[in-house]
Amino acid sequence: MKLLKTFNKIVDIILIPIQKNSIFFCMMYLLGIVTTFTQVLALHAKIPRINFFTWIFDVYIICIFLLLFPKKTRKFIRICIAACLYLLSIVDAFLNKLFYAKIGPEIINLLLETNQQESREFLDQYLKFDIIFSGVGVILILILIHIISECYYKQLNHKINFWYRPTFKNICAFITIISFGISIHSRIKLIQIMTAQNTAETDLYINNYTLNTPANNLLFGLKMRQLANRDFSLIAEHQEKIHVDSCTYTSKHIIFIIGESYIKSHSQLYGYLLPTTPRQLKRTQKGAKGTLIPFSNVISPANLTSVVFKNIFSLHSIDDKNSWTSYALFPVLFKDAGYHVTFITNQFVKNIQQDVFNFSGGLFLNDNRLNKLQFDTRNTSTHQYDEGVLSDYDSLKRYNTGKDLTIFHLAGQHIYFDRRTPNERKVFKENDYRKRNDLNEKERQTVADYDNATLYNDYVVDAIIELFEKEDAIVIYMPDHGEECYDSIHRVGRMPQGNYSPKMIVNEFEIPFWIWCSDSYIEKHPQIFNQIKEAKDRPFMTDDIPHLLLYLAGIQYKDYKESKNILCPLFDTKRKRMIDGTVNFDEMLKKK
Ligand SMILES: [Zn+2]
Repeated sequence: MKLLKTFNKIVDIILIPIQKNSIFFCMMYLLGIVTTFTQVLALHAKIPRINFFTWIFDVYIICIFLLLFPKKTRKFIRICIAACLYLLSIVDAFLNKLFYAKIGPEIINLLLETNQQESREFLDQYLKFDIIFSGVGVILILILIHIISECYYKQLNHKINFWYRPTFKNICAFITIISFGISIHSRIKLIQIMTAQNTAETDLYINNYTLNTPANNLLFGLKMRQLANRDFSLIAEHQEKIHVDSCTYTSKHIIFIIGESYIKSHSQLYGYLLPTTPRQLKRTQKGAKGTLIPFSNVISPANLTSVVFKNIFSLHSIDDKNSWTSYALFPVLFKDAGYHVTFITNQFVKNIQQDVFNFSGGLFLNDNRLNKLQFDTRNTSTHQYDEGVLSDYDSLKRYNTGKDLTIFHLAGQHIYFDRRTPNERKVFKENDYRKRNDLNEKERQTVADYDNATLYNDYVVDAIIELFEKEDAIVIYMPDHGEECYDSIHRVGRMPQGNYSPKMIVNEFEIPFWIWCSDSYIEKHPQIFNQIKEAKDRPFMTDDIPHLLLYLAGIQYKDYKESKNILCPLFDTKRKRMIDGTVNFDEMLKKK
């Protein structure tokens, strides 16, 4: 009996915050559900089941906060909080519906950069009545229900007597406790993000931040923006002082292609059984124009785009102790040396739909000051399909000077694989994967979509090479990182940092890498061509790519290291390749 009494007392205590704010609690929880479904439907995302619990946790914490105030003040603060959350959710639903975007760092940036007239024009253009037939309408109905329930709460509660029913109370307390257990891990991550000191640190937690309530996304966006601005002004200040010692302009035109999410084992060039890279394969054979040399042992320093970009653009290696912000960016060195630098990206132009995963990677390339320091010319809009970069180059090539660095950045095999390939170029079908008994029909289709994107990528990179066949040119190709697509692990996407398994690092970190030289290049630079052939099986991690590029240009700079240049005889083949700066790739591979 005594035990039961204590139990009831504990339940009562747990429920105080909810009981004292019951309508607020229910309505804010419902609001969370509505915003999730609006996001899921608009962004074609998966339902993040954990959110159903984390909101109970979040709203519960707000309710505890409200208890700190006397009744009247509490009521007032509660109205203010509810109004803010409704407003944010309406803005978010609006963005979902019209731009397939959600509140995040990039939107906040755009809003803060927009002047009054631009905002007015924007609202005139987009604020139409039919917006009501979307998540916005549902939220307006919620607000109405909220107001009515507040007015009639006393009568309602009196009639039904919720809080006097023990079963109801026990269930509520039980759900609350369960929600705490499920949410605590994700909320610790949130605290880590909100207290991070630089963007390199937030990158570690960013993966946990795909879909969330608009309020959480707003906080996250503001924090990211604050950190990014600080990082970028630090790095820009540093880059402004950088000067190269000398330059011999060894290679007249260096073309650097960065792909996306490329699983090495899905490349025919590396033994995949389906013909996903026929054009690249042909270019390795005799009789082709120029020669393509595939490298056999290359890995990416991370499996997250933003982390990779910071490490491949700067002379910072992922396991260096100092922050990447204190190192030179290779395009800055090229520009300072007198090369004309062109950046053509199919992902990182300023765009409100920008993926949060790419935010810090894209932004250091988009920051006005850093953009000017790094690039002479660049494209201004992205394309549905990667072949659009060909016409971009066509319109920008007139600015070339005879000493050129051209960087192409593709969408490659980015997630939502089916959207990467135009229909007329789709070759592989679900039926081609009949033998994969481990997969259902939908999963087999996903693999077909991935392979189609890989085949389409083959077409695009081949067409890029074709642009330079007649020039004294060298092309280097690498994707930013690998990917999962039901190979040895039953899922797509990539795992955030930590807890890697040997299978996982093979799929997500091993990448294709090749260098193509035009005939004229081979003729003029026989020594470099031989060095490439000799280097093709050396173990390499792409965070050292700037050293190779500087060598090909003949740029002398104090931080250039022969031990990091894969073509140099002094290249360090014993380097411990620490992915994420912490996990020894080669050691982990041995555990396979
Ligand atoms: Zn990526």
